[in-house]
Amino acid sequence: MTSTVTERNTMSENAITRRGFLAGGTGVAAVAVAGGLGLTGCSEPYTVSDHKDEEPTYRQGSGVCAACPRLCAYTAYIRNNNRVTKLIASAGHPSTMGKLCARGYAFSRSAYAPDRLTEPLRAKSDGTFEQIDWATAFNEIGAKLAGVDADGVLVVHGSEPTQAFYATRLANALGSGASYGIETDYEPSRLGGYAQVLGEGITGWDVDVRNCRALLVLGTPARGFSPAQLKRLTAAKEAGCQIVYAGPVRDGVGSHADWWLPVVPGHELALLLAIANRLIDGKAYDEGFVRDHAEGFDDFKKAMEPYTPAWAEATCGIPATDIAHLAQVLADARPACAIASQGGFGQGMAASGETARMVAAVNTLLGCWNQKGGAQLWRAAKPADLGDLAVDAPQTKAPDAAPLAPAGLGGVTALLTDDKARDVLVFGCDPAIDGRGLGKMRAAFKKAGLVVAVDWRMSETASMADYVLPCCAQLEYDGMPAFTDGTAPAVSISSKMIDPVAPDAKPVDEICAGIAAAAGVTGAFDHTLADFATAELDGWDTSLDNLRSVATVSAANTSDGGFGTLPAFATPSGKIQLTSSACADAGLSAAPQWVGTGDVVNGGSFAGYVAALPYQTCGADAATPGLARIGDTYLAGRVVISAATASELGMSDGDEVTISSATESQRVVLGVSDHVMPGVAVIPAGFDTVTAQNGGETRVVAARLVGDDIETGYGSPVNRVVKVSIQKAGA
Ligand code: SF4
Repeated sequence: MTSTVTERNTMSENAITRRGFLAGGTGVAAVAVAGGLGLTGCSEPYTVSDHKDEEPTYRQGSGVCAACPRLCAYTAYIRNNNRVTKLIASAGHPSTMGKLCARGYAFSRSAYAPDRLTEPLRAKSDGTFEQIDWATAFNEIGAKLAGVDADGVLVVHGSEPTQAFYATRLANALGSGASYGIETDYEPSRLGGYAQVLGEGITGWDVDVRNCRALLVLGTPARGFSPAQLKRLTAAKEAGCQIVYAGPVRDGVGSHADWWLPVVPGHELALLLAIANRLIDGKAYDEGFVRDHAEGFDDFKKAMEPYTPAWAEATCGIPATDIAHLAQVLADARPACAIASQGGFGQGMAASGETARMVAAVNTLLGCWNQKGGAQLWRAAKPADLGDLAVDAPQTKAPDAAPLAPAGLGGVTALLTDDKARDVLVFGCDPAIDGRGLGKMRAAFKKAGLVVAVDWRMSETASMADYVLPCCAQLEYDGMPAFTDGTAPAVSISSKMIDPVAPDAKPVDEICAGIAAAAGVTGAFDHTLADFATAELDGWDTSLDNLRSVATVSAANTSDGGFGTLPAFATPSGKIQLTSSACADAGLSAAPQWVGTGDVVNGGSFAGYVAALPYQTCGADAATPGLARIGDTYLAGRVVISAATASELGMSDGDEVTISSATESQRVVLGVSDHVMPGVAVIPAGFDTVTAQNGGETRVVAARLVGDDIETGYGSPVNRVVKVSIQKAGA
């Protein structure tokens, strides 16, 4: 017996069980091909051997979930060098706190996904792909990049830190500074709105749940709540905090709430403006805190005057008496109260950035920043400078469409769809499905001189690329450190734990080095990943080896006992800004104001609300076997409306319907629920062309229904609310 860890003593409540994801998710003996795309490179079955005739061995190592930008960390246990047996989430990680979400557990098995890419592919003129070898792929891509204008090279990468590091380094080596994370299409509005009030570098806050007396949560984030956020909500409820949930769907988080305020999606800004109006008009705000720590109050106060609760009732549908009562609840609890940092705001709406700005402004009126029971501001987790290992990074100005987005974020969709022809390298993400409507994105990629997609599966973006390069999946490669902001910032790392299931897939560092060499760029990739990782960890009180063995290292938590101390705010005044000249310059207004989002709920139409499913939000996740089964079991691909509306329209749960927007009609299946407000149609996010067809029922593809508006100032696609109509099929 050579095992170092026995199966019995490593089981825990966090472990994956056979009843959970193991049953169908691993031990893939022969995998069905991905159908309908005319592929060759992902069509070969691959095999994972169980070595059933051998005594099993076990070992453990560190992992970082890259399924969403929270980068939750865990310890993985591996059986026979090739099978993920279980995961134990890091207790000290800010997003994780000892739990992963279902998506995280499933994503650890992405190596075994049935649509795994196995060989480099080159697009043919008829829209199908042909298999090529790596040398040909590198040489052809390198030759094309060697002759292009460096200014025209655009790199888009996923959240995974290794991809982000190497993709950006490749862009820089090629002479381009245009390297953006895909979360730029989710986060620039929320983070940009926060930055206008609190300065760049403050990306969120945790609520002191043990002492908080009133907490307002605004909807559900586009990617769902993190395990830690859900854990904190539970803790707040257990500690007696009054939780108010304002959103169009009373989903999993709403069930924690003492009070649900249905609000038309995209109209949360009206609620916040009216709360500010009541706090100021009723002199219920924290005058001393505002006087000592904020700038611009007089102009802000004047700007809030029109936004009475009666105005808000007419705008967002929440009764004026409820709004006034909510403002009083918060005022009575201050400073032991807060609006949560995460929620269904700040992403994908016409007024996302201004809503985030108002969230930070109302918390300022409540004087709750870093107060006992209030909102504890996060500190940034940063890698050390690379020193001699750094490459010159050409300066780029913020995209014209996104002047309010924080540095390095914002405008991917705007950049992809502006008039400039670019060569686009996409690493481990799917901007086509995550961004604006697919029609526009197809046109954008057609216009590009060269599109290269580096991915482990055939994503929607990859299906539009000139070249598709198969990269290693989760746990098949050593990763770069992942830095996570928090009240106790943390660094984590992913390690190579299994042999590549697709043997010809390459890690991203090798792919970038191969492209660079073929393009005639030398020097940037002369050092090893371990060299870069070690350099980034300087000052973090850990070695690379230690981090790989413990999964997460945290800085000291300053939220315990440190109440009352505020950080230096990186704003022009050094104080919290209730007004912003940058917003005025960007075509908005110095003080936040109502940004109309259109009347989308009359005349029999619905506000189509593109919402995260509790367990997954993007095509890559939906394709993993565990989540695909959950999706089928819970009929997750249905469009859901309220029971009352369905009754009025003579529709029932399970009816086949046609949902139509300005861009497309889709025939899907209707769901009916008491947890959806009337006038809203919940459109599950995350299914792409491939995964829509893999379920028992045809699933709705949200990206085909949304339009192509870009949010003023912040440059994000408006892709979470779309006007739709729903009719019974054949009616
Ligand atoms: S919240 Fe879930 S999907 Fe996101 S990083 Fe954590 S475990 Fe992964």
